Amino acid sequence: MKSISCWVNDIASGKATSTEAMQSVLDRVARYESQVKAFLSQIDPTCLLEQARTLDDLRDKTGQASHGLPIAIKDNISVTGQPLTAGSKMLEHFVSPYDATVVQKLRDHGFLFMGKTNLDEWAFGSSTEHSAYHLTHNPLDFDHVPGGSSGGSGAVMGYRGAFGALGSDTGGSIRLPASYCGIYALKPTYGRVSRFGLIAFGSSLDQIGPMGLSIDDVAYLLHVIEGNDSLDETSRSFDAVETVSSDAAIKIGVPAHMNNFLDGCDGPTREGYENFLNHMSKTQGVELVSVDLSPLMSGLPIYYVIAPCEASSNLSRFDGIRYGERLTDSTLTEVYSKTRALMGQEAKLRVLVGTFCLSAGHKEAFYQKASDLRNKLSGWIHDQFDVCDAIVIPTTPTVAFKLGERMDDPIAMYKSDAYTVAVNLTGVPALSCPHVPQSSKLPIGIQFIGAQGHDYRLCEIAKRFESFFVSPDPDKE
Ligand code: GLN
Repeated sequence: MKSISCWVNDIASGKATSTEAMQSVLDRVARYESQVKAFLSQIDPTCLLEQARTLDDLRDKTGQASHGLPIAIKDNISVTGQPLTAGSKMLEHFVSPYDATVVQKLRDHGFLFMGKTNLDEWAFGSSTEHSAYHLTHNPLDFDHVPGGSSGGSGAVMGYRGAFGALGSDTGGSIRLPASYCGIYALKPTYGRVSRFGLIAFGSSLDQIGPMGLSIDDVAYLLHVIEGNDSLDETSRSFDAVETVSSDAAIKIGVPAHMNNFLDGCDGPTREGYENFLNHMSKTQGVELVSVDLSPLMSGLPIYYVIAPCEASSNLSRFDGIRYGERLTDSTLTEVYSKTRALMGQEAKLRVLVGTFCLSAGHKEAFYQKASDLRNKLSGWIHDQFDVCDAIVIPTTPTVAFKLGERMDDPIAMYKSDAYTVAVNLTGVPALSCPHVPQSSKLPIGIQFIGAQGHDYRLCEIAKRFESFFVSPDPDKE
């Protein structure tokens, strides 16, 4: 598939039209969507084509019009006038009154919106099976999960049903579906992208990020959506970081204790990762340095205290009074409890765990302790970039698992995030790139982790190895 910037240039110079671009993704949607079910909203091809044609007509008449390339948006990000369910029955009839800042920026840059994609309820999950609406299937094998929580966005990109997609990543939710669906995704540095208009899960962890079919595409989209925003006090603009020329010597940090670090990985992940280590070691100008990455593995227990604490506090606004559905009853307490019971099992579990960990008498033992460990982890990760330019590890321990396989075992589900959560706890950027090892039909993800603010540098480093990555096309399976 042609890159976003190629399409933008071709449309501007008259070599391609917005209608052609739109038709190309609608053809994919027609072919795959009924089986994959990536979208929560109904796709309206007539309306989308009409919008594209209007742009072409305007361009013919005035010589100027935006390109109209369509993007898919995870359904926890506000798009004016469109439903915003966050995968929950609590917001079944809620319609966004405004655009998220990222959506406004995409609009200003001439993008159109395909529709809203499926997710785990409130973005709690690793497989999209916790959506209150329907299952989404992996486009490369319909019996498998697409990953989560941004599984709809991952799946639609996996079948090439949009030019790019946005997801949100609190503990791995854009990198994990990217890995399972064989695409690219970037979790930006915390604060680089405004969270205004994103339904909050863990405010100190959440970042919106781009998913796409190449490193160039995710970098392009990051450029569109990034920047300081007065509506999100945690957002900021980052200074340009020196770039790495394609032949400069770089150091890549890899696990010093490989066997321990890869413990829990399946065969294809080990094989693919080892292939990549081998590939990097033969690449000119690249030096592999052994780094003790064991602190990274402490991320999981820290995350699964901090994330539910923040979630339980953020979710208190969905009480049947202020937002969303309200189930009426005779007393206020009954209104609260009936309405809150609309939440699914996983959401209830997170609220209970978070409330417990924040409660008087337990806060010091859980939330405070996890926060102290998080600070140590941050200090540790920042130090690693004194000895290497990027750390390279698998994105997840396994390829996409079968639908239903981990639903009765929350711990097995949480372990899918073993390699991703430390990135959110420490705020650094990470990029997942796809590779299909020989022993597997399903892809793995190779994850590049970089220093704070070095998002584009990370993309440049990964581009050195671009020939190794393959985004599998479901048509060719
Ligand atoms: N899988 C992780 C969780 O369930 C991360 C989710 C996310 O990044 N939104 O908390």
